[in-house]
Parts: sequence; structure tokens; C-alpha cells
Amino acid sequence: SDHDLTYPSCPAAMDWSQHFPAFTVAKAVSSTDALDNDHEHENIQQISQQVAVADIGCGFGGLLFALAPKMPKTLILGLEIRTSVTEFVQEKAKALRNQNGDSGLYQNVSCIRANTMKFLPNFFTKGQLEKIFLCFPDPHFKARKHKARIVSTTLASEYAYVMKPGGNVYTITDVEDLHLWMAEHFEAHPSFERVSDEELERDECVQTMRTETEEGKKVERNNGTKYVVVFRRLEDPPWP
Ligand code: SAM
Repeated sequence: SDHDLTYPSCPAAMDWSQHFPAFTVAKAVSSTDALDNDHEHENIQQISQQVAVADIGCGFGGLLFALAPKMPKTLILGLEIRTSVTEFVQEKAKALRNQNGDSGLYQNVSCIRANTMKFLPNFFTKGQLEKIFLCFPDPHFKARKHKARIVSTTLASEYAYVMKPGGNVYTITDVEDLHLWMAEHFEAHPSFERVSDEELERDECVQTMRTETEEGKKVERNNGTKYVVVFRRLEDPPWP
């Protein structure tokens, strides 16, 4: 259940420094701060940049730990609903940071426990994310369970809200019905356009998603098919 899920009231209330301590910056106190009556977020340590990549339903973090050294200056976050799995990913990030010491590798990757069907805009501001990964989401085969799928018209709007125009939503699954469902929902959404297959072949993230996710490896062992579809966040049309 979601009753024990903790989430910030808004993105500014989230203390990211606990997740990315190497990116913490000294707080600049300006004279306007002293006059500011809103002290709600004053104890939060600031970090030098925002999370730009989110892996939704990251599981044990295979994709996160493959991407982290490939883009060491980008903050990458997994969101996972299972407590023990979230803790596993957090501990693995700490262990890899320790093992890699001075190189600074893996300082840019972390994981939070969240139900992304509900609280995405509590964590991310409008236009913040450059890439969202939806890798092998739970298929929820039965029609009456479709509402539990992490892609829907409403959720496509939430993904559009937190994404930067020009950014990509990457999807992969071995379930053809779910693949068609995800493609259909993003295609129908005015904020997204489908990325061509040609472009996908040139995108390193697509290859990583196929080979480095735990589920991707499992499907590989079973000689299954992996369906990939990627959507680009369009610019919002100008106000009339
Ligand atoms: N992405 C990983 C991969 O490709 O190997 C894991 C895929 S696994 C089939 C689906 C994951 O999504 C599970 O770890 C599950 O706990 C998580 N999940 C399901 N619903 C979720 C939700 N609403 N919010 C966050 N995580 C969720």
C-alpha cells in the first residue's frame, strides 16, 4: 500500500544532497533570503544540478549502473515501489562509489522509493527531465488490471509535464500487447512524437536498455523478442 510512502510536498522540499552528496554546494545566503518569510525549505542542502534522467520501476538497477559511468556528469535516478529493492539499489550505489574512490564514478546515481503513478510531480519540476526510461513495466495482462499500467493518457500527461522539450521517453517490453498499448498512448498525446527506427539504432541508450536491464537479459536468455519504442517531447505550441 502507499500509506507508508514518504514524498516531498513539492520538488523544492526534496533533500537531494542525501542521494548525491558529491554534488552538494555551499549555500549562498543573500539579503533577500533574510527578508524571505518562507522558511519552509531553508534547511535543505542544495545540489549543483537537477536530476536529468529517471528510470521508472528500475528494479535492481541494471540500467542505472550501466548508464552512470557513460554519463558521469548527469544525475540519474531510479524510482522503485518495492522497499527492499530500493534499498538494494541504494546500497549498491554506495558500494560502487567506495570501490571507485577518487574517480568519482557512480556519485551520479541513486534510487528513491516511490509510486510513480501518483507522485511524479512531487519530485520533479516542469521540464526537468531529459530522459525517462520505462523498461519492462509490469504488463498487467487482464483488461480490468490495465489501469495499473504505468502508461495511460493521464500518466502520459504527467511524463510530458516533467520532461524537457526535445527529451525522450524510452520504452521496452517483451509483451507485444503492452508495447502496442504504450505506443498508442504516447502517439495519441499531442506533446509527443515517435522517434524513427533509424534514429533509435544510433542512440546508445537504446542499446544499453536492451542489454543491461535485468529483464532484458532474461528475455535474451529465453530468445524472446524485445519491442522498443521511443517518443520525443515536443515544444509546447505558443499561446494563441
Ligand atoms: N526496469 C527493470 C528491468 O527492466 O529489469 C525492472 C522491471 S520489473 C518487471 C518492474 C518493476 O517496476 C518492479 O521492480 C516493480 O516493483 C516496479 N514498479 C511497478 N509499479 C511501480 C510503480 N507504480 N512505481 C514504481 N515502481 C513500480
